[in-house]
Amino acid sequence: MRGGTVAVVGGSIAGCAFASAAVRAGADGVVVLERTHGRLADRGLGLCVHDDRAAELADAGALPAGIPAHRLERRRWVVRDPGAGGGGRLVWEQPFPFHSYHWGLLWRGLRAATPDSVVYRQGVTVEGVAGDGGGAEVRLAGGAVERYDLAVGADGYRSVVREAVCPGARPHYAGYVCWRGNLDAARLAELGDATDPHPGAVTTVCFPGGSCVIYRIPGPDGPRVNWVLYAPPPQGGGLRFDDPTSFPPGELTPELSEQLRALLEREFPAYWGAALALTDPADTFVQPIYDLETARVTAGRLLLAGDAATVVRPHNTSGAAKALQDAAAFGAAWRRAESWEGLLDGYQAARGPAGRDLVALARRLGRAQVERTPAWASMSGDEVAAWWQGQLGGAAGIGGQAMPPTAAPAP
Ligand SMILES: Cc1cc2nc3c(=O)[nH]c(=O)nc-3n(C[C@H](O)[C@H](O)[C@H](O)COP(=O)(O)OP(=O)(O)OC[C@H]3O[C@@H](n4cnc5c(N)ncnc54)[C@H](O)[C@@H]3O)c2cc1C
Repeated sequence: MRGGTVAVVGGSIAGCAFASAAVRAGADGVVVLERTHGRLADRGLGLCVHDDRAAELADAGALPAGIPAHRLERRRWVVRDPGAGGGGRLVWEQPFPFHSYHWGLLWRGLRAATPDSVVYRQGVTVEGVAGDGGGAEVRLAGGAVERYDLAVGADGYRSVVREAVCPGARPHYAGYVCWRGNLDAARLAELGDATDPHPGAVTTVCFPGGSCVIYRIPGPDGPRVNWVLYAPPPQGGGLRFDDPTSFPPGELTPELSEQLRALLEREFPAYWGAALALTDPADTFVQPIYDLETARVTAGRLLLAGDAATVVRPHNTSGAAKALQDAAAFGAAWRRAESWEGLLDGYQAARGPAGRDLVALARRLGRAQVERTPAWASMSGDEVAAWWQGQLGGAAGIGGQAMPPTAAPAP
């Protein structure tokens, strides 16, 4: 099938990838509607993509070459133990074949790879969509209504397109939060010793009731240290649990900053507590953790992509890879389809179950690493390895599922 018009609601990771996939598959009019006015590239922190997923995505044409990435090799699990030195005591080490990215640089690479024919409109908020057998209607803030052959919901965790595809589906609060931040890697030198391990190492600090993942990422002005700290919700401080982005960077209240400082002092090995404390408050934020699975990812001429289709707790580091896989599967389904219905059915069959499996795996990881943490400090390396395998529950690993070969582009 060739031709047709597509509206992509949301111009982030999934939105850029879907716009490119639609043009390559043969659409003759693709419009991205992104509500943000400013430069998306200025925002965001670190994320990781498994090397095997990156290779599949590159083969499928969904991950452009040349985007800055930092190679990671192994993951070290450490506990606080004053007798073991400032970096903590190593309880287990595992291979970690991922590359880390800076969200803004990844977005910039995807945006730059979007064909010139894509019309990327910023400052446009979509208020609602409707899609029947004959097309999709997109209602904009201000009242204008636009018609397309297909509307893609790439509008993130609070998707308005999802509301039309799966009415009433809402993200569920997981019961804990994630503090996040990043800092100039050169600042680690201020700590005065060489405890920082190999730059390819990911450190997971383990403590009762939570854990923290620390790794390097590329940055616009040089390497940065990115950290993601899962812990029970702070008391007070104005954090709300009805909005996954309660406190954007730079807007932490003094009460929340103090709670973070106390957590680092209480639970972290001295070196890592001091390293995270170097983070500029403007680069620190806290968000409640949510997840959501949808019963379906298509309805009429509407289709869900990325976080709009599935909100996965971040533990399995699969959000960006999953969004790009969705785009690759969309392109493949389009190339095989002879009608819009065929395209939508093909996409539903390829991507419907994928999100549900990721949500289930991330729940197991969250339970084991935050909600019901084991006595890491008294476990042997073999016991930690067995504990890890138990969380996987038969999954091959974290970082998302392998892409079926059908997602590769037609020659
Ligand atoms: C600014 C930003 C920073 C991020 N930083 C990280 C990070 O550091 N690490 C990480 O793992 N993940 C991060 N993510 C999430 C990560 O990008 C996603 O998990 C994954 O890449 C899939 O994203 P997505 O494109 O489906 O959704 P999102 O990245 O959430 O994008 C949704 C887009 O839709 C737009 N939008 C929403 N509603 C409307 C509407 N009604 N009308 C028009 N536009 C709308 C939003 O402005 C946004 O650009 C970030 C997302 C954003 C937007």
